[in-house]
Amino acid sequence: MNNAVKTEKTIDSRIRVVKDRIKNAALSCGREPSSITLVAVSKTMPAHRVSQAIDAGISTFGENYIQEARAKVDELSRFGVSWHFIGHLQTNKVKYAVPRFDLIHSVDSEKLAREIDRQAKKLDKRQAILIQVNVGKEASKSGIDENGAEKLVRAAAAMPNLIVRGLMAIPPFFDDPETARPYFKALAGLRERIARTKISHQSGEKFMADLSMGMTGDFEAAITEGATMVRIGTAIFGQRK
Ligand SMILES: *Cc1c(COP(=O)(O)O)cnc(C)c1O
Repeated sequence: MNNAVKTEKTIDSRIRVVKDRIKNAALSCGREPSSITLVAVSKTMPAHRVSQAIDAGISTFGENYIQEARAKVDELSRFGVSWHFIGHLQTNKVKYAVPRFDLIHSVDSEKLAREIDRQAKKLDKRQAILIQVNVGKEASKSGIDENGAEKLVRAAAAMPNLIVRGLMAIPPFFDDPETARPYFKALAGLRERIARTKISHQSGEKFMADLSMGMTGDFEAAITEGATMVRIGTAIFGQRK
């Protein structure tokens, strides 16, 4: 068996395992498995690995770095899969992101939201976004703090070319998913509270309905706390170099 075939088999079975784990976590708390979107995080993975994942049934990919994503997304455009941007986005890179990504998970300032709105308008696009919240209050992490989130949701909801789909967080890393759980609960609670405030927005289309939380080490806990999107890299592609 040559190496290419071996890698393919590995990705294939890994994806099957991850999908099973998502399904079981959903069923364990009475949720519909299809209500959870698997975002396969393909950062640092070359296009041929991504196409193996596409062959194995993955239809949504997450990328962190604009420079890397530009080439990859363009090379794989014929497959018609959905791309999500999950990394820190600089204002001057927004013009490369908006044409390529269906959802931007990492909006954490009004300035960034405004630039996304401006670039989306040029393309006559409604750009779906999530507001990234720094639930761990870590100085080193991106994300708006919990107190500022509602104000940012309000501001973005008023921008005509944005759709605010919900919230995203990367809690402090813990090996034990139970240690991450309070942060997932906090994000879910915040989404709930903001959604209840009846913010006026441009369209009712899935406004504030999504919660992007949970990675390889803790996605089952995230699902039982209400995640609608899990971002999984290592469990699908293996350890990154
Ligand atoms: C890398 C990354 C992931 C995936 O992490 P894994 O532990 O490999 O599953 C998810 N979300 C973000 C924002 C990331 O940067």
